[in-house]
Formats: sequence, structure tokens, C-alpha cells
Amino acid sequence: MNSENSTDLYRLFASHICESKFTVVLTGAGISTESGIPDFRSPNGVWATNRQVYFDEFLSDPEARYEYWRQKSVSHREFADSIPNVGHRTIVKWQKQGLVERVITQNIDGLHQQAGSEDVIEIHGTARRVACLSCGWNEDAEVMVQRFLANDACPKCDECGGITKHATISFGQQLNETVMQDTIDTLRKAELVIALGTSLVVEPAASIPWINNSARRKVAIVNREETGKDHLADIVINGELGVTLTEIDKHVEHAMMAD
Ligand SMILES: [Zn+2]
Repeated sequence: MNSENSTDLYRLFASHICESKFTVVLTGAGISTESGIPDFRSPNGVWATNRQVYFDEFLSDPEARYEYWRQKSVSHREFADSIPNVGHRTIVKWQKQGLVERVITQNIDGLHQQAGSEDVIEIHGTARRVACLSCGWNEDAEVMVQRFLANDACPKCDECGGITKHATISFGQQLNETVMQDTIDTLRKAELVIALGTSLVVEPAASIPWINNSARRKVAIVNREETGKDHLADIVINGELGVTLTEIDKHVEHAMMAD
């Protein structure tokens, strides 16, 4: 991509943002890698170097439960110590300017909220909280991870003594119905869906930009690599997210000043 072509793409991207009356941003692991959080699907990621604990095992087998907590206490540090990057901050800026309505994320790291995004839809839940599977009691993940490390045992619910787990969707665990309904309802109004840092391979994220599709809807993709759905998008930019969003934002600013 030469610089003249990329400038045209940034400008076109910005004009889609300015013209849309309801824009939804969908984010994947790629936005968090720029905050130093490894993509768990990558060759060095959590899934490649640890055995995957499935939800039914977690429920039935105390050893699997311990292994889950051991892994979580390691990965917890990776995001607990990380901070939002320019990608997260640009989305917040666009939300404040009324250019983005809602963020839907596959990420469990809570960095959008930390950057200032409100009402984020977390389709895979959040690793910032730990919840009781029986009564719904929940607590800050930091507190519970410290408790696991101090006692070298899976922490139990303070209220009912039940099994606790990070408030994320595990392998083999059903997606949260309320969250998915919220996603579907949100997309009903979407005129523009911007997919950022997601390979658009894993469901349900891969289909989200086209849920409740309409003739007006445009889909824009920014990702470091090609995605599985590039051929269905109206505009695709392959590049680093922080740099690309910063460039697009310059054109957004320019377009807004011209209005
Ligand atoms: Zn409980």
C-alpha cells in the first residue's frame, strides 16, 4: 500500500464514520496486544502452552479446577499490569464526540472500560471479576487470585461456599444469553460496524458485523493481517491499530472542521 492510496483509505474510512448515524465498534485480541497482552491464540499464547480446561471438567474435577486457577493466576498478572493504548483511547474520543455508539469486545481484559468506554458489551465476559457459579456473588479478580496464591487452593464463595470462577466464558461454556441479545439489539440500528484487531474467524464475533444487516450498513475492518471476512467488507486496512486509528482520526477531525 503506497502512501497516496493509504491516505485515500483513511479519508474514506473517516467519511464512513462521519456519515453513519449509529456506529458500533467490535474489537478482538489485536487491540490488546498493543497494550502488551499476548494473544492467547498465538503460538506463544496461553492456549498453546497450557492445557485447555473445559467447563464440564472444571465443574466435575477438583484437579482441573486447580489447574484453571493456576493458569488464571498467571494470565491475571499480564492484564492487571497493562494499561489502555492509543487504540482504546481513540474509541473513547469518538464516543465522546458522538461518533461511536457502542463497543462490543471479544476481550476479557477490561481495557476499554479502563480507557473510559461505558456500557461495553463483553461477549466472552470479564476476567476482572470472579463470580460464584451457584449464587452469583462476585468479587474483584485481584482479591480472589491473591487468595488462591496465599492458600494454594481454589477460593470458595464468601456467601454460600460454592465454586468460584472468573466471569469469562470458558471452553465448552454457553455464551450469556442476555449479552448476546444485547448484541443483536444493538446491531439492529448499526449503519457502520468497525471491526478492529479481530481475525473474524471465531464465532460469534465472525458474524457480528453482519447481524441484523441492512442495505445501509457498511462494514470497515482494521487488522494487522487479512481476516476471514475481508471480501465482505466495504473497506479494509491492514496495519497496526494504534497508528491506523490515529491517521483515521486526523481525517475525522478534518471532516468535522469542514462541516
Ligand atoms: Zn455463592
